Amino acid sequence: MQKGSINVQTENIFPIIKKFLYSDNEIFLRELVSNAVDATQKLKALVSMGKTDTELGDLTIEIKLDTKKKQLIISDKGIGMTADEVEKYINNIAFSGANDFLEKYKGVDAANLIGHFGLGFYSAFMVADTVEILTKSYQKDAVAVRWKCDGSTEFTLKEDKKSDRGTDIILHISEEAKEFLDEYKILNLLKKYGKFLPVPIRFGNEKKWEKPEGEEKEKEIEVPRIINNTNPIWKIAPSELKPEDYEKFYRELYPYSFEQPLFNIHINVDYPFNLTGILYFPKVKERIDIQKNKIQLYCNQVFITDNLEGVVPEFLMLLHGVIDSPDIPLNVSRSYLQSDNNVKKISAHISKKVADKLEEMFNTNREDFESKWDDIKTFIQYGILTDEKFYDRAKNFILLKNTENKYFTIEEYQKHIELLQKDKNGTLVHLYLTNEEEQYAPLMEAKEKGYDVLNFDGILDMHFVNFLEQKTEKTSFVRIDSDVIDKLIQKEDALPSKLSEEEQKTIKEIIEKNINKDTFTVVLENMQETDSPIYITKPEFLRRFNDMQKMTGEMSFYGMQADKVNLNVNVNHPLIYSLLKENDEAKKDTITKQLIDIAMLSQQMLKGEALSNFIKRSIDIMK
Ligand code: ADP
Repeated sequence: MQKGSINVQTENIFPIIKKFLYSDNEIFLRELVSNAVDATQKLKALVSMGKTDTELGDLTIEIKLDTKKKQLIISDKGIGMTADEVEKYINNIAFSGANDFLEKYKGVDAANLIGHFGLGFYSAFMVADTVEILTKSYQKDAVAVRWKCDGSTEFTLKEDKKSDRGTDIILHISEEAKEFLDEYKILNLLKKYGKFLPVPIRFGNEKKWEKPEGEEKEKEIEVPRIINNTNPIWKIAPSELKPEDYEKFYRELYPYSFEQPLFNIHINVDYPFNLTGILYFPKVKERIDIQKNKIQLYCNQVFITDNLEGVVPEFLMLLHGVIDSPDIPLNVSRSYLQSDNNVKKISAHISKKVADKLEEMFNTNREDFESKWDDIKTFIQYGILTDEKFYDRAKNFILLKNTENKYFTIEEYQKHIELLQKDKNGTLVHLYLTNEEEQYAPLMEAKEKGYDVLNFDGILDMHFVNFLEQKTEKTSFVRIDSDVIDKLIQKEDALPSKLSEEEQKTIKEIIEKNINKDTFTVVLENMQETDSPIYITKPEFLRRFNDMQKMTGEMSFYGMQADKVNLNVNVNHPLIYSLLKENDEAKKDTITKQLIDIAMLSQQMLKGEALSNFIKRSIDIMK
């Protein structure tokens, strides 16, 4: 038997490990199971290279829980270690000393520290008072050894008996960490980190209904509980997979999700970096829901994180699925991950792949693409707004939908409206509405004049409009109720009014007498006789200003009254003209009020007392 001191340049690293890593202590299981997987993969590699003639046999890694003895055991049938190797790999912890360590990594998360310092194995001390390693190397005539350490720097190493090859890590779970003696806790952790590990992981048994051979009826039998799928489909060549396989895998990833994704991308790159994965496109509608069904990041099938904030462009976080790359640094902090060059390249690559896929869909089956558009529009707009490179690709397949449910690319749409909707300055005026029901009256008017109207009812549409205006020359977007339709697309200078200046003044006075001037600005308009006598609009710039204020939560510091609307009075309308000639003051007021109320009604602005006054007045008129 050998006794010795673990070779670290500090009295005792364990209190440090415990203190600093405690918040994330569950990752000890990921580390130990990963070590077991590595040891197994190494042995497989040696066999396949012909370096050993060891019989591989069943390589299942077993996790055993002994609540009575308060032990958790991780057993593998991998390469194992000789006494010398234990000495080399376990006892000599190469690191620069506890003080440096403390200084440098204050407040950094545990996952960061552990791998960084090659401390994977020692994370066991976060949850165990005493740790034992019982191991036997694959090498011929190897002698099994048992290493034991109680969390001080002292350890013992002695020969022991172990019939089969491999390593058992025996954790004597400490009182503070006794939660790890709970079967479901361990099961959940194994499922979290080990769901797709490449070597089968067994944790106890489970009950299953099966028909035993030679028997008629199904029986409930106990079978080993294997917690992982060792061959997840992202590792399989896409040519070997059917659509059902992708659907099934989606349910495997997100068992609690009811919605099915729209389509997916299978990423399979091995140059200039290694990257595999499957990304699913969900329907993105009212809410941008990043929290649910997050993308999971794996490194060689070991789950790392599903918090990809800052690692991939934000819009990609709306996707679901998995990404696996051995080139993503494993055990480092998020800020390191964000600035890592490999990660940047991988992230740009994913963005490109996503654009490729969308473009391919657009080019090969436009009809199908259009049918999916409403569901992916928000995702694409989000990408365009936040990722310049993505816009460069996406501008070819962005679609605009008009109120007749027809879809156009930006270019197609420009051609479509070129004839009728170019104003006198050569600007192409894009008309849009945001709520067909509320903006029905101006819509009808626009249609009557042969104009095309876009439907912008999505949550990001308005941001997208701002963006497109900046990106495209001689293009403007105006909501159909933001001015008198003919003025929205002004093709020539306005005609001089038929009324004298005196008459115009009088009309203005008659109207202003009957309105609240804080709400309305009266504008006299030379419209057609057949157009409405009075018509309410809200200038586009005021509305956008208003939206901006709402977004930033700022008050109007320019003294601009963003809520004010225009009351457009059509001086060519016979009813307006008749007001000039009316001598009965009461009658004049009644007609004026009635006309204003009708205009408000058509904009759903007439509510409460005003509405009930209008109804009363209407009935009185009929009397
Ligand atoms: P890392 O895994 O980052 O190298 P660890 O502290 O987790 O750091 O492990 C140190 C070394 O101990 C490993 O590199 C490996 O050589 C050895 N080791 C750990 N666990 C096992 C195991 N289950 N079987 C064989 N060797 C192991």
